Amino acid sequence: MNNFDNFVNGRWVASETYNKNINPSDLTDVVGQYAQGDDNLVELAVSSAKQAFAKWSKSNIQARADILEKIGTEIIKHSQKLAELLAREEGKPVAESIGEVCRAGNIFKFYAGECLRLAGQTVPSVRPGIGIEVTREPLGVIGLITPWNFPIAIPAWKIAPALAYGNCVVFKPAELVPGSAWLLSEIIANSGLPDGVFNLVMGPGKTVGDAIINNKDVEAISFTGSVATGKRIAEVCQSNQTKVQLEMGGKNPQIVLDDADLELAANLCIQSAFYSTGQRCTASSRIIVTEGIHDRFVELLVNKMKNLTVGPALSKGTDIGPVASEAQLKQNLSYIKIGIEEGATLVYGGEKLALETEGYYMRPALFVDTISNMRINREEIFGPIATIIRVADYTQALEVANDTEFGLSAGIATSSLKEATHFKQHANAGMVMVNLPTAGVDYHVPFGGVKGSSYGPREQGTYAAEFYTRVKTAYTFA
Ligand code: ADP
Repeated sequence: MNNFDNFVNGRWVASETYNKNINPSDLTDVVGQYAQGDDNLVELAVSSAKQAFAKWSKSNIQARADILEKIGTEIIKHSQKLAELLAREEGKPVAESIGEVCRAGNIFKFYAGECLRLAGQTVPSVRPGIGIEVTREPLGVIGLITPWNFPIAIPAWKIAPALAYGNCVVFKPAELVPGSAWLLSEIIANSGLPDGVFNLVMGPGKTVGDAIINNKDVEAISFTGSVATGKRIAEVCQSNQTKVQLEMGGKNPQIVLDDADLELAANLCIQSAFYSTGQRCTASSRIIVTEGIHDRFVELLVNKMKNLTVGPALSKGTDIGPVASEAQLKQNLSYIKIGIEEGATLVYGGEKLALETEGYYMRPALFVDTISNMRINREEIFGPIATIIRVADYTQALEVANDTEFGLSAGIATSSLKEATHFKQHANAGMVMVNLPTAGVDYHVPFGGVKGSSYGPREQGTYAAEFYTRVKTAYTFA
């Protein structure tokens, strides 16, 4: 069995303990054993990063751009290998995994360009003879804590801007998916970055994650994960005056109006509710349907659900892979029970599946006859479970769409320019989709939400500079 080590200060560091990484499509398949870091290793990683920062923050921007470009190229060159590993450890079908890997590669290439584009401002002074410059500077050591549902894309969209703007990184991936993080780190380790600029410390959130957020030399934390962990991290960061950026849950609405192209609407619901096994913070879990087409639409959607093949992530023909973990599967099945107890009607799916290999398989589920205040419409389930909420018209649909503590992505399927325009303006969400799935976004524009979904500056695109840099105002009298 292969052991995979942590990477600190330019060296691979063995550990006393290694965790088994199990394939959720086949529980007998061990992907590898991954080193578990501890407080001391985090301390070493942060101090190495702090030491490296002095030079890296002032490094030549062409050299930085070249390194990021090289990382992006290597990721894309090895996309098949990376995608197969991702599929094996997380359960995402290979085609989707390839998409995720290429996205990660393109993100590095995008930020390679951004190394050369970080401009400041010159501003006239209100006083004579004085010039003012507003410039952006890197922050220092940044702690990056990532979840299991996008094992390579989320690390990429945090690591790439952090490095591009001249910061040093301590990266802790989720316990369930250290393999993709390790392969990404291997590519970064071979890219020519100076020692200490990038560090990988794998291990549990409660120990390694906690040591990162509590380290006083960490200037900023970028976190994606659950609401509960995000809130805890925010509290610690606030008391330490650490800059923080949180991406947490979603309970994303997808409206389908009477005038929608129903075939298109059903396809986009299938895509955003059930692909990636529903394990996307942008998944649409609440499908809000106007009554004129309700019954027809439900029938169409259920027929399409029947055509979905649930199977091993590495098998050809699989549409929906397994759930990523036993805990997540238990949670999904418990919500099926909760929905039924609340009075919703389960029209399709929701059961655990026994396939050829033992894994965490379940059939995608659809509830109808649901109302907005049911738990299945309020709490993020994070599985292949969607609900239908029947409404009278667009006005009520908008009200229901916004009736949530989250606000990441919101979709509408309609052929009306008037309703689409109104929805773009009034949906309480960071991202709005018209005739497109709520999940599936570009890599060069801001990503993030409002209300309980996100906290702090947006991620991705040029807006990432808001988080990964701070501004300095310089006055000159000459
Ligand atoms: P999930 O329940 O979906 O795994 P979490 O929010 O627990 O979501 O995990 C997201 C990331 O946060 C993971 O990398 C995890 O290890 C990390 N994490 C969990 N608990 C803590 C904590 N107390 N401090 C710092 N990081 C944590």
